[in-house]
Amino acid sequence: MRRTKIVATIGPASDDPGTLQKMIAAGMDVARIGLAHGKLEEHLEKYRNIRAAAAAVGTNVGILADLPGPKVRCAPFPEGGVIFEDGAPVVFTAGEAKSSIGVISTDYERLVSDVEVGDGLALGDGNVTFVVESKDGTNLNARVLRGSRVQGRPGLQVPSDRLQITTPTAEDVRFADAFIEAGVDMVALSFVRSAHDVRSLGVEPPPRGPLVVAKIETRAAVENLEGIIAASGAVMVARGDLGVDYPISELPHLQKHIIRRCIAGGLPVITATQMLESMVYSPTPTRAEASDVANAVFDGTSSVMLSGETAIGVDPVNAVSTMAEITARADIEFDHDDWAEQVHKLRGARPTHDLGAVTTDAMTMAAVRVADQVGAAAIVCLSRTGYTVRSVSRFRPRVPILAYSPDERAVRQLALSWGSAASAQPDLATVRETIAAALQSSKQHYGLHSGDRVVVISGHAMAARATDTIQVMSVP
Ligand code: PGA
Ligand code: MN
Repeated sequence: MRRTKIVATIGPASDDPGTLQKMIAAGMDVARIGLAHGKLEEHLEKYRNIRAAAAAVGTNVGILADLPGPKVRCAPFPEGGVIFEDGAPVVFTAGEAKSSIGVISTDYERLVSDVEVGDGLALGDGNVTFVVESKDGTNLNARVLRGSRVQGRPGLQVPSDRLQITTPTAEDVRFADAFIEAGVDMVALSFVRSAHDVRSLGVEPPPRGPLVVAKIETRAAVENLEGIIAASGAVMVARGDLGVDYPISELPHLQKHIIRRCIAGGLPVITATQMLESMVYSPTPTRAEASDVANAVFDGTSSVMLSGETAIGVDPVNAVSTMAEITARADIEFDHDDWAEQVHKLRGARPTHDLGAVTTDAMTMAAVRVADQVGAAAIVCLSRTGYTVRSVSRFRPRVPILAYSPDERAVRQLALSWGSAASAQPDLATVRETIAAALQSSKQHYGLHSGDRVVVISGHAMAARATDTIQVMSVP
């Protein structure tokens, strides 16, 4: 069983039912719908197609709606694009006029007042960079630092602490509402800067509401990481934009740091962007990409993400199966003992004001130890919200985490959590009966055998809010 989860972005190359089904069969755990481009109705249609494909394959697939956030967009460049030469002067302004090689128009009214002389700007994913040399009432006068070709309507990267637009934007809230109404499992917030931004989305806690994924892609988010983690359901290391806000040499270290803080907080964490980038065009990844994916697994990422590789790439199914192969192989090399040691240290002081949280933390830590020492074949976890499963997952147990919840959305939200296989199962009259049904299902679906030892964690009564019982049992 592969332990590291795979998020794949759905786009024009992958939104037909046949391709979606093949991607699910190849290992896509979570489908991501990027809302930065296109119409809401088209995105909702993708959503329905993904649900239908998952039903056809007979598995649970989580769906992540990724909100655009406060992006500044340039007005379109002429057909065929333009090529910026190093050192050329360029004017930035706010307005509707088309962009050209000399004047770039943007849809952000406060551009000139927000941006300061000396700031760096970039187009798209940072292919063309500029430095602002002077400004007057309506224009920023900039110079090209690094030139390249630009076409279409690229985003303009402005240093994140300059922008006055707040996350979530009115458009984000509108998109989020529509997807929550449709039953989406996770919602990602772009360009968050603080815990306040995350809370402003104002959704119900999971599983009633979506798991809120905070995309860490600004300096402010890195600086306010602890608060953001406390306010979020999951985190994405959004390397694309993070690599614009920081020198590229900082990126590998930021990735490790963010992952470690998420593990300490018990949150699933997605490592994203350019993981198998060359597979947008090519049937095989570069050696460096294969290493990057494996190293993200060793860093402790819960999930890895495919972006253009599956949204617009030549062979989305091949991208997913390549990702599945590399992660499954890396999972085998994962150093579980060293990891457990580290998590004990990383957890730090636990909040003592919340008895439920303290109990779940202690019990899940103990359960993983017990599983190791009794040679259990699996950890079976009854969890209503998925919280207990995420808590177990932090410790990266050697054996599978088989999760059972009566809540289907909780099950799909666990698609992001390392090492877990979740199933929906209604609560029976007593905990004993619910456990018996879970063990029966583990035999049927996860290859456990009669006589296998398992560690079962649950609440002692169905109404219990915290996990408070560990049992070592034999599969009947
Ligand atoms: P994006 O986010 O693909 O929506 O920009 C991910 C990233 O910035 O890496
Ligand atoms: Mn981004």
